[in-house]
Amino acid sequence: MMEVKTVDILIIGAGPAGLALANWFRNSSINVLLVDKKPGPTRRGKAEGLKSTTNEIFDSYGIGPQIATESWRLEEIAIWGQKKDGKSGIEREQLIQDKVEELGKVRETMLQQSRVEYHMQQNLLSHRNITIQYNTQPVDVNVDESLLHEDEVYPVEVLLVKTQVHPEASSNILENSTPYTADGAAKEVEERIRARYIVGCDGAHSWLRKQLQVQLEGDLTDSVFGVVDLIPKSNFPDLRRVCYLRASTGTILLVPRSNKEVRLYIPVESGSSLSDPKELTFDRIIDAARKIMSPYTLEVGAVSWWSAYRVGQRVGSHFSRHNERAFLVGDAVHTHSPKAGQGMNTSIQDAYNLGWKLRLVLQPHHKLDSDASRRLLATYESERRPVAQDLISFDRGYLKLFAAPSSQFDTEFLQAIKFTTGLSIRYPPSCAVQLPKVVQTAEKLGPSLLKADLVPGKRLPDFQAVYQADGITTWIHKRLQATGCFRVIVFAGDLAAHQHLSTNVQKLGEYLADPENGLGQLTAGGEAAPVEVLMVHSANREKVELLELPEVFRPWSDNDGYDYWRVLADAESVHEGHGRVYERLETDPEKGRTLVVRPDGYIGAVLDVDDFEGVGKYFNELGMLSK
Ligand code: FAD
Repeated sequence: MMEVKTVDILIIGAGPAGLALANWFRNSSINVLLVDKKPGPTRRGKAEGLKSTTNEIFDSYGIGPQIATESWRLEEIAIWGQKKDGKSGIEREQLIQDKVEELGKVRETMLQQSRVEYHMQQNLLSHRNITIQYNTQPVDVNVDESLLHEDEVYPVEVLLVKTQVHPEASSNILENSTPYTADGAAKEVEERIRARYIVGCDGAHSWLRKQLQVQLEGDLTDSVFGVVDLIPKSNFPDLRRVCYLRASTGTILLVPRSNKEVRLYIPVESGSSLSDPKELTFDRIIDAARKIMSPYTLEVGAVSWWSAYRVGQRVGSHFSRHNERAFLVGDAVHTHSPKAGQGMNTSIQDAYNLGWKLRLVLQPHHKLDSDASRRLLATYESERRPVAQDLISFDRGYLKLFAAPSSQFDTEFLQAIKFTTGLSIRYPPSCAVQLPKVVQTAEKLGPSLLKADLVPGKRLPDFQAVYQADGITTWIHKRLQATGCFRVIVFAGDLAAHQHLSTNVQKLGEYLADPENGLGQLTAGGEAAPVEVLMVHSANREKVELLELPEVFRPWSDNDGYDYWRVLADAESVHEGHGRVYERLETDPEKGRTLVVRPDGYIGAVLDVDDFEGVGKYFNELGMLSK
């Protein structure tokens, strides 16, 4: 009889989404099997642009520095259009900084998908609870509906087939590699898996999506793109800037890459005889590029990759099925054009949204009950599906922005780049996004698109602060490693100048550490605690003594003493200037405030600094406080 293996999570597809999801389960006891039908990681091509919000995810996974070192920064955007004097050819119309002021850092970098996948995959290698199996694909899946409301069960059963692979192509992390017959031919081997959860990260043609009978809704008029990575030999002056070129003969999006390379995206307009990707040869793409760039020349140097591909603008009717036991992530559940460089970013961000929820539901300590688990997991769809829908609407309108000069261009462009950076995302109210009692709907919080403000459901704006203990500077998102824990961040204000603030901090510290109200059990346990308490004060650092603060802000461990890195100051750093955190976050130093920040860096609740019970209420509604 065939052996049946059990895993907590089976992930189908080890592209950007699958690898990003698996990274959430490092340093946990959650058992993850990641399978992919390809022989190893992607080797070249495909997506490339990384938004700063995606780079924050890499920081939280500990691979930010490696990725940043290899990435190429984008700083300027040039808009080119047809000559105004009626002559043929194109001219530069506008030069724009690729910058969003409140980010305070580089907005966009470039690194090819293969390298991004490489770093995410390497980050998993030392974690024995996570297995990646290439050359493997599912052929059958069944979900036992009778088990869907129970806790410790494996309702998902999948038949996997390990497909043929040449031995030299096999990865060093391939487990249970395909056995070979005496003449070297590969045998196909079947394996039966039982899982608590299954996640389809299997791309635009998702097998799991079809099995789950999820429909793709949206525009059936697919657009076709020719994409070429090459070293151009050309007299075009803006090859080291991002360029939008529009000529009577078509449009090009040109993006500089490292090593003098550029990437050219050339959309094929609908109705063209080239609308089938099979018709779109390399020579035809280059021919089209030459016509658009004329009178500038384009000779082809080294070509590292090219492709012609078709994208639909569609969103899945569901992102989860079977009472939140089966999920779809990334291209499996939404596709759109590459114009705004959103494919890989959105897929990674979907995975980042789902991963912490699965981790919380599956972790053995502080377990959520079945109802609370389903409620939390349901927020994956309620949070990410609207993001995908917005992205499709945005995608349709994006190139219109560049189609003709407009007096509104700068404002609209700024909004567009904020959108593509992810700054306008605001998740709706739920057990994980709680609004103050007086505010019934998210809309009443006012428009937040253009502000880096503190609103439940929005990403915590990144900011620079200085550790109280040693004066070292950090950015907060770098500090928020993806360990699965929530953070209560207390903006304690100028507690050296105001007695009421220091009294508050003492009382809040006691409340957060109190086992009677349940919070003490969440905040105790050092690095393994499900809730970490941090402070950012605005007092003169010399007037604050770390060890005089309540213990929850500097917990003691019998093994290695105090934790010195939970208290930060909004202060001048030795080398990197002043973060001006209170000013940027519009927080009054005489009042302060408290934030509950979810494990994915999104704000779960914004509270007055003396609203101790608000913190308890947040975790209670989430189901984390023991009854
Ligand atoms: P994918 O990257 O598609 O990964 C899916 C993974 O699942 C793959 O590894 C695949 O082998 C595996 N898989 C599929 N089916 C099965 C199965 N049945 N069993 C096991 N494994 C399976 N986006 C941009 O933003 N800019 C670009 O320039 C750009 N260029 C692109 C060029 C091409 C040719 C293509 C195809 C896509 C491009 N994209 C681009 C889109 C971008 O690559 C995707 O948005 C991104 O890769 C999505 O990540 P994902 O993990 O969801 O899916």
